[in-house]
Amino acid sequence: PSVFSHTFSTPVFKGSVEFSTGIYVDGQFIDGSNGSTIDVINPSDGKLITKISEGTSVDVDAAVKAAHRAFETTWGLHTSGRERGVLLGKLAQRIEEDIDKVAAIEALDNGKTFTWAKDDLTAVINCFRYYAGWADKNQGKTIETSEAQFVYTRHEPIGVVGQIIPWNFPALMLAWKLGPALATGNTIILKPSEFTPLSALYIVKLIHEVGFPAGVVNVVNGYGTTVGQTIAEHMDIEKVAFTGSTLVGRKIMEAAAKSNLKNVTLELGGKSPNIIFDDCDLEQAVNWAAFGIFYNHGQTCCAGSRVFVHEKIYDEFLARFTTRTQNVKVGHPFEPDNFQGPQVSQVQYDRIMGYIKSGKEEGATLHIGGERIGTEGYFIQPTIFTDVKPHMRIVKEEIFGPVGVLIKFTDDDDLIHQANDTVYGLAAAVFSTNINRALQTAHKLKAGTVWVNSTNNLHPAVPFGGYKQSGIGRELGEYALANYTHVKSVQVNLGMKKA
Ligand code: NAD
Repeated sequence: PSVFSHTFSTPVFKGSVEFSTGIYVDGQFIDGSNGSTIDVINPSDGKLITKISEGTSVDVDAAVKAAHRAFETTWGLHTSGRERGVLLGKLAQRIEEDIDKVAAIEALDNGKTFTWAKDDLTAVINCFRYYAGWADKNQGKTIETSEAQFVYTRHEPIGVVGQIIPWNFPALMLAWKLGPALATGNTIILKPSEFTPLSALYIVKLIHEVGFPAGVVNVVNGYGTTVGQTIAEHMDIEKVAFTGSTLVGRKIMEAAAKSNLKNVTLELGGKSPNIIFDDCDLEQAVNWAAFGIFYNHGQTCCAGSRVFVHEKIYDEFLARFTTRTQNVKVGHPFEPDNFQGPQVSQVQYDRIMGYIKSGKEEGATLHIGGERIGTEGYFIQPTIFTDVKPHMRIVKEEIFGPVGVLIKFTDDDDLIHQANDTVYGLAAAVFSTNINRALQTAHKLKAGTVWVNSTNNLHPAVPFGGYKQSGIGRELGEYALANYTHVKSVQVNLGMKKA
């Protein structure tokens, strides 16, 4: 396979990177079985960055065989938790040494700014370190039944696991998936998004370098309908973990049901409510609300895209939020001080502009933004709609761009009803200085995460996942270990006699 070699000479990063653009199967970088490639496009200018090998279902089969072999010979029950933890720790260390390089690759490929890409990479390192710590601590229980028997449980790895990830946090989603799966002893076929495959290729180079045995981690780049679909329906993959849209999540579950009933965890979309009560710290609420919707260019599954503001402070909030939105610096990912870069792809750009158009057509007020920035790349102005109605598409559907809607409310009970009036349930935020009001509201919201007086605040020890159609299962924290282990009960007869 080809090698991608690139020298960055930007204000924020100068240096060279080099990595194979092949797929990674059984410890080797190889071309895909039919020799075809996928174009990787730079979202800042719409031009080609490089071509990577396209994997196929034949390559998934080969990766599954390698993963099975590794599971039965070098990984799974053939390593100790301590050994797995040491390797995960080394990986974290290597990524830390190359953090600027991986962040630069991520910024180039995804369009997020170098500064924020580096923030993601710090979270990647923390995630691997966190799961390195769990690798030798995921123990079973002894269970009291009677004096005549001894019962204990073992937390055993599931086996060969498929992992399919999206483009919005390419390296971070890789870490959230690989961390708990490797710590618990599984072997993996990972499919990055075809839009943003590069940081995974660099990280897998480091995985190879630190000495994970061949076949433990396999990365098969390719399209969702080919490689992704093959993973979801494969008879010899025992679990699939997916992060992406609710639409595709449904297909994954269907494929799992129709094939071998593989275990499924899903992290899907959201339309998260962000509730601003009249007794909040207004300045902080404005700052966090802007971060809630504009962070990562709105391409965040837990984006606070529906901002509910109490009528008593609505005008003041809107005025300050408008100024704050005007101050969001949009521009090239490699220039200092920019907060927002381009959207990830032409497809996403078109989708978001389509939503902005639909908002106007359905009668909402385009309060600020709504236009393209520049003539090349996929830059969109931070956008706010007001005067929205519950039935509008911009209120109901996930836009996945820098587009928020502001909704005025008067009554707390009606607010809860409106906030929960969505098929999603990933996250929510509540702003109030009244602890009782804030927590009572947090408990009534149907969401997997509720932030009180912050937004988009994640930590590797804290579980993350959705209610309703936002997903099944929890990533991160101790909870994620359960996604990757079978519980085996061993019942030992200490003296029960059978006549
Ligand atoms: P997507 O569903 O289009 O794609 C996600 C992945 O699935 C990609 O790797 C894609 O190639 C693959 N895929 C596509 N079709 C497939 C199929 N038929 N079978 C198997 N795999 C297939 O999503 P996206 O556009 O890459 O990402 C955006 C979505 O991800 C948003 O809806 C967002 O909310 C969600 N997301 C959720 C979380 C979370 O933790 N809940 C995190 C990040 C993103």
